[in-house]
Amino acid sequence: MNPVAIRDSYDVAIIGAGPAGLAAATLCAKGGLSTVLFDEQASVGGQIFRAIEETPVTDKRVLGASYWRGMDLTRAFRSSGAQYVPEATVWSLTPEREIGVSLHGGSVLTAARRVVICTGALERPFPIPGWTLPGVMSAGAAQILLKSAGLLPAGRTVLAGCGPLLWLIAWQYLNAGAQLSAILDTTPAGNRARALPHLLPFLFSGYFRDGMKLLRAVKREAPVIADITSLRAIGDDRVTHVEYRRGNGAAQRLAVDNLFLHQGVAPNVNLPMAVGIKHRWSDEQLCWVPVLDAYGNASIDGIAIAGDGAGIAGAEAAEWRGRLAAMAAARALGRSVPDPEETHVRDELARCLRGRPFLDALYRPARIFRQPSGDTVVCRCEETTASQIIDAIALGCPGPNQMKVFLRCGMGPCQGRLCGLTVTELIAEHRGLSPQEVGYYRLRPPVKPITVGELAALPKTDAALYAVTRM
Ligand SMILES: Cc1cc2nc3c(=O)[nH]c(=O)nc-3n(C[C@H](O)[C@H](O)[C@H](O)COP(=O)(O)OP(=O)(O)OC[C@H]3O[C@@H](n4cnc5c(N)ncnc54)[C@H](O)[C@@H]3O)c2cc1C
Repeated sequence: MNPVAIRDSYDVAIIGAGPAGLAAATLCAKGGLSTVLFDEQASVGGQIFRAIEETPVTDKRVLGASYWRGMDLTRAFRSSGAQYVPEATVWSLTPEREIGVSLHGGSVLTAARRVVICTGALERPFPIPGWTLPGVMSAGAAQILLKSAGLLPAGRTVLAGCGPLLWLIAWQYLNAGAQLSAILDTTPAGNRARALPHLLPFLFSGYFRDGMKLLRAVKREAPVIADITSLRAIGDDRVTHVEYRRGNGAAQRLAVDNLFLHQGVAPNVNLPMAVGIKHRWSDEQLCWVPVLDAYGNASIDGIAIAGDGAGIAGAEAAEWRGRLAAMAAARALGRSVPDPEETHVRDELARCLRGRPFLDALYRPARIFRQPSGDTVVCRCEETTASQIIDAIALGCPGPNQMKVFLRCGMGPCQGRLCGLTVTELIAEHRGLSPQEVGYYRLRPPVKPITVGELAALPKTDAALYAVTRM
């Protein structure tokens, strides 16, 4: 493996090579700042532009224009002069902006005068009975297999859930020639009324035209069953059926080999929360969002957040947020970035955000699919069930961190990524509090698993730190 020279310090370190990180790194480097971009993936692109430089899906009609738009951003980044470090997992960031990076099985420490966290979003947990069965996975994970390996599911495939990404993945699958037995749409009927007040700005946002075209195309080719109010994955050693109800109707079953679930995305809070950045509960997006200023600067000096990690707004907004954060970083370091003008960046960002309130309201996932009950597994790492959590609340467990002590949920390899929102909402519901009052897991580094060996191999003193020849 080619050695990667990680410097002791940089002007700007960017974490995450999705649209936000690529845009921010390009602008910082163009402004003459020493800039490094770390990403845990093997190639640039983040979630939306995943594997864009080497995807086997070369027929551009399959993934669509919104995917291939990433080529310009990637080329601009590649020629910007910024240092790119792939397969680099940032597991620690301190308020003093010291960064712990795991790279090829070893860890290094570096530092930066400004840090922009662009770690994006994660799919929202979708805890239904049987969601841990083999053959059941998130629709986003299925899309990753398509983008990075050109893989399509074999056999009877059902998509279930709600949100723009579910429809995009269905459309990409159909373009790729996959058969979909059904799409079980869990968008609550009542959401349409809830979204109506936000319709006008949505009509003038780019989402409307593209979204309608995509929805019509999918509904022409795949059977869509709407108003799904309950879902259950059934099977012994793998999923064989999905059981669902429409409205108050009787339970129905579909035979399946693959069940792909999706009910929206939420900011990836692990690194920002572990460094101590202030977050608040967003009832519009049903998740935790960082408290940021107009440039994305966070509650800790010298650290900013851009992209979907700053609140869900989509790929184009992520780019413009990345540029704003880069402008602020350059200014703080006494530099300016060549272009674009700040007013233009803000106009573009405002255009991208115009349709968001409508989408958030229309695709607000139903409570039943966010707050499970009974034996449904909530914490997949520790196999903690909803009833265990609800019993612990009844026993007086006040919050998520005490729940860790009671039941170990949130203490596994994913560090609460797949159960945190569910645990917060269940406690809020059963204690009659708001999620803001209940809070979230206290997150600490390492935010991603590293070996004890990596930790032990780290220099113990500053002198040692600067004496070590970097890997
Ligand atoms: C699975 C999935 C698929 C999606 N597909 C689409 C799509 O096809 N179209 C669309 O419009 N939107 C899609 N989205 C929504 C997506 O959030 C945004 O559209 C867009 O990608 C957000 O850009 P971003 O720059 O904020 O972050 P992202 O694109 O999410 O990029 C963040 C990057 O940071 C990396 N990272 C995270 N933590 C660390 C760490 N600790 N150390 C190092 N690297 C780290 C991630 O691996 C990722 O490469 C998807 C979201 C998910 C979760």
